Amino acid sequence: MRAHRSRRALEFGSREDLLRFQRARFEETVRHAVAASPLYRELYAGRDPADLPTVSKQLLTERFADWATDPRLRLEDLERHVERLGAQDVLFAGEFRVMSTGGTSGRRTIHAFDQAEWTECLVAFMRWSELFGLRPKLPRMRVATVMTVGARHMTSRFNLSTDVGAHRTLRLDAGRPASELTAALEDFKPDALLGYASAIGLLACEALDGRLDIAPRIVATTSEVRPPETTDRIRRAWGVEPHDAFGSTETLYGGDCEHHTGIHVFEDQTLVEVVDGRLVMTSLVRRSQPLIRYELGDLAQLDTAPCPCGRSFARLTAVEGRADDVLRLPGAGGATVAVHPIAIRSPLSGVPELRRYKVVNDRDGLHVSVELRSGGTEVADRVASLLQEKLAQSGAQVRPRVQIVERLADDNPTGKFRLIENRA
Ligand SMILES: [Zn+2]
Repeated sequence: MRAHRSRRALEFGSREDLLRFQRARFEETVRHAVAASPLYRELYAGRDPADLPTVSKQLLTERFADWATDPRLRLEDLERHVERLGAQDVLFAGEFRVMSTGGTSGRRTIHAFDQAEWTECLVAFMRWSELFGLRPKLPRMRVATVMTVGARHMTSRFNLSTDVGAHRTLRLDAGRPASELTAALEDFKPDALLGYASAIGLLACEALDGRLDIAPRIVATTSEVRPPETTDRIRRAWGVEPHDAFGSTETLYGGDCEHHTGIHVFEDQTLVEVVDGRLVMTSLVRRSQPLIRYELGDLAQLDTAPCPCGRSFARLTAVEGRADDVLRLPGAGGATVAVHPIAIRSPLSGVPELRRYKVVNDRDGLHVSVELRSGGTEVADRVASLLQEKLAQSGAQVRPRVQIVERLADDNPTGKFRLIENRA
């Protein structure tokens, strides 16, 4: 792909060249937004270009009609289109690929990509392949993905859109029972295994327990923060160091190289700032719905020191998910302590009996619903004690109430492992 090759020089060139390219694209992005989006025109009127305000997801969704730059992009029509999307790569108005971001917190947002924007997304996809050593070659590699299969989600849309035969691929739905997934994987014998961190973590459990016999040389996880327990389990199961494919529908893309020094952000496509510890991004590729100084909310650090791989791209380190997921829990002497959800996710990901869980923090305490893959009521007690102990290390004094459910309510359509809600 030509766009891919012309960008390679930047990726492995000097950081100065990259920043120059970025600056020019940023200015062009702002010019386009002011010309074509009434919302940005209003926001930037009389502002110093060096000091543009940040925008929130809430503002953009509330003012969708003024935000979008193409009159065909009407929110009601887009929502109807997304609702009807199955697992096929169907275009809106014959031109746009439309996806939605769910959200454990906050409302859904719709994102439309025209052909030029989508081509940029595919550049990111090719880069992931290169970062992880998935170059097309003969004999064709066998690549298995364990994610959601609906076309409304970015990760699966990539699969649909790039299924051109470079690899032999097997697409599995992360929401299916473990026995079904392991049987399919043993049949397929993947060279590479990609999927949600939670799904791959569960499969590593199956492998360690002797219920899954495969030998992937490449393992990469995506869409969720991967807890250290899961990383460790993948190493023990398959003897490989897993990669991290970072991608958001907003078009912040990146991945770690063979040195695993953090997530190289594809900075020729996205300008990233860390403001008060939180990620703010500008997409340099979105034109239909410009995202300029958009508040992503994840807690992160950016490292611009050179990496041994020679890439000019800075690395995100310590990405910890959304800052607005932070739980406020009772501490000693009536105080309130803020606890990051990783304090809950991390220990729960180490409990092999759990299939999925949901944590709700409301006024009368912390409620945990768990869906089990094995074990019985003793698991609930163990989870309660484990969480109590881990939360105490963060200064919180709570005894969570743990309830075993047959199947978690399907309000988590992506099939992901965890869901944490803060209603307190
Ligand atoms: Zn590197």
